[in-house]
Amino acid sequence: MKVKFPLVVLALASLATGALAEEKVLNLYSARHYQTDEALYANFTQQTGIKINRIEGKEDELLERIRNEGANSPADILLTVDAARLAKAHELGLFAPLTSKLLESRIPAHLRTDDWFSFSTRARVIIYNKTTVKADEVRNYDDLANPALKGKVCSRSGSHPYNLSLMASIIANQGEAKAEEWAKGVVANFARAPKGGDTDQIKAVAAGECQVAISNTYYIARLMRSTKPEEQKLMEKVGVVWPNQATSGTHINVSGAGVLKTAPHKEAAVKFLEYLASDEAQRYFADGNNEWPAVESVKVANPALDALGKFKADKLPVKNLAMYQAKAQMIFDRAGFR
Ligand code: FE
Repeated sequence: MKVKFPLVVLALASLATGALAEEKVLNLYSARHYQTDEALYANFTQQTGIKINRIEGKEDELLERIRNEGANSPADILLTVDAARLAKAHELGLFAPLTSKLLESRIPAHLRTDDWFSFSTRARVIIYNKTTVKADEVRNYDDLANPALKGKVCSRSGSHPYNLSLMASIIANQGEAKAEEWAKGVVANFARAPKGGDTDQIKAVAAGECQVAISNTYYIARLMRSTKPEEQKLMEKVGVVWPNQATSGTHINVSGAGVLKTAPHKEAAVKFLEYLASDEAQRYFADGNNEWPAVESVKVANPALDALGKFKADKLPVKNLAMYQAKAQMIFDRAGFR
C-alpha cells in the first residue's frame, strides 16, 4: 500500500489538472515564427479563452523533440512547413487521425490528409538572370535538364525537403524513369555544387554566378518587399517564371499542422486547427510569410504576390507528395544531386 497509495493520488491529481488544462491551454510546437503570428495567436486566445504556450524551433529539431518526448510529450500540435516534413511526422505515427466537418469544407481535398492539414501554399518557381537567359528557355522544370543550360543552373541541396517535394511531384506526374533522367540532366547543368538556401540561389542568379535556379515564392516576395535598396536592386536583375503552365501546373508546397496522438489537450488542439481555417486567421497565417491561404475564398492583398501574378498550380494531392519522398531521395542520390 505504501507504493500504491501515492500512485493513486498522483493519477487523480494529473486527471484533475488534465481536465482543467483541457479548457485553458494549448501547447503549440511551431516551426513558423513571423511578425503577424502575435495577432494570429492573440485572436485565438481572445475568442476561446485558451492560452497558447508556444515552443518554437527548427523544423527537424521539433520533430525530434516530439519523438524523444514520446508518450509524455506536452505537445498538442505540430505546425511546420513542407509536405515532406509533415509526411515524416505522419509516417512516424505522431499525428492523431482527425475528422472535422469544418476543415473538410474549408481546406480543398488535395491540401489535406487524414491527420494533417495545409493552411497555406507556396509555389516552387524558376528564376533566371534577365540579361543572359530568356524566359522562353525556362518555361518548364524539364528545361532545367536541357543541355542548352550547361553550366548555368544552381541549386540548394537535393536532400532538402523543398527539392524532395518537387522531385516527388515529378515522379508522380511523369514516372520514376523520367524523373531520374531529369535529375541527371539538372546535375549535368550545375554551375557549382549545391549549397545554401533559396535566397542564396536568387542572389547568385542576380550576381551572374549562375543563370537559372529554383526558389520558393516567399523568398522572392521577401526580397521584393525588402526595404534594403541592394535587395530591391537584386530583384531587378531576376526574372520569375511559373513553370509547367501548359502541362501539370507549377509545383506547390504547403505549411500545415496536425494534432499529435499524445496531445494532452485534444479538444483545444482541434479548435485551434479549425480557427486556422477561418478567414481572419488565414490572412494572418498566409501573409506572415508571403504565402497564399489554403482556403480558396480567402483573398490576401500582398503587393509582391500580386506583382508575381496568377498561375496554374499543380493540384497533385499532398498525400501523393508524401508518398514519393523516399523514392525522390533515392533518385537524387543516384543522380548525384547532393
Ligand atoms: Fe523556407
